[in-house]
Amino acid sequence: MYDFNYQRPSSVADAVKALKGSDEAKLVAGGMTLIPTLKQRLAKPSALVDLGALKDLVGIKVSGGTVTIGAMTTHFAVSTSADVKKAIPALSHLASHIGDPAVRNRGTIGGSISNNDPAADYPSALVALGATVQTNERQIAADDFFKGLFETALEDGELITGITFPKADKAGYMKFPNPASRYAMVGVFVAKTKAGARVAVTGAGPSVFHQKDMEAALGKSWAADAVANIKQKADGLNSDIHASSEYRAHLVTVMAKRAVAAAG
Ligand SMILES: Cc1cc2nc3c(=O)[nH]c(=O)nc-3n(C[C@H](O)[C@H](O)[C@H](O)COP(=O)(O)OP(=O)(O)OC[C@H]3O[C@@H](n4cnc5c(N)ncnc54)[C@H](O)[C@@H]3O)c2cc1C
Repeated sequence: MYDFNYQRPSSVADAVKALKGSDEAKLVAGGMTLIPTLKQRLAKPSALVDLGALKDLVGIKVSGGTVTIGAMTTHFAVSTSADVKKAIPALSHLASHIGDPAVRNRGTIGGSISNNDPAADYPSALVALGATVQTNERQIAADDFFKGLFETALEDGELITGITFPKADKAGYMKFPNPASRYAMVGVFVAKTKAGARVAVTGAGPSVFHQKDMEAALGKSWAADAVANIKQKADGLNSDIHASSEYRAHLVTVMAKRAVAAAG
């Protein structure tokens, strides 16, 4: 039996009130992760706070050098946005390769990064581009947001409202997808930014991480060949029925090379 109080607030303030009003309350966005978790009885919230009526959290704004995406914007909307395609084509490419059409039409960027699945695609884009996460309370730099396996800097009662991405001079994303789910076995996002070259790896470890040797090499020479001989250590990487840590380590170099080539 499911036994929870369902609420569908119409403002961020009411959503936060509902979230704080119950000990075990959970926000639900696209439900692509949360609903299966409930079905498997792995979560038993006392209240479900549905963000579906918060239209202020849906949409994409390009302003000067940044792209801001509302937390409730679906992967489909990001992948098909002409503004995103023009400003940061690698982000549109990333969104277009998430899961399947059902997942892309329901799943949201806010839900994805809150969940921080180790194999999710978006965390690599946030870290490589140096994005900022906006919540109802504060702004959090991407480097401080992703804390570990399914763990973020979000506090109890905190809700993501949007993410701001600075445009990059060049950016590219390539992943080796799990053939069943399309989650990243390994995904590498590379960006040439005002702060230098940034390389963020997802899928390989417990959480997204910078590949610093590749960042240094690309800082000197922005070319696929610059990363071709840089080996990722397998220590600490994920190893499961899909791929060993050694295989994932190998894929980091291959995906990085392809991502730089795609970035141009
Ligand atoms: C079959 C399948 C394949 C998939 N393939 C991929 C893939 O290839 N790549 C990939 O990256 N992802 C993949 N996903 C994940 C998917 O893209 C969704 O992004 C993800 O499930 C979470 O988004 P959601 O909007 O559905 O969040 P929900 O499931 O509704 O919520 C997830 C978590 O985030 C919290 N939350 C939601 N919104 C907010 C908010 N605004 N503020 C704070 N907390 C919030 C919820 O409380 C919950 O804990 C896949 C999922 C499925 C089911």
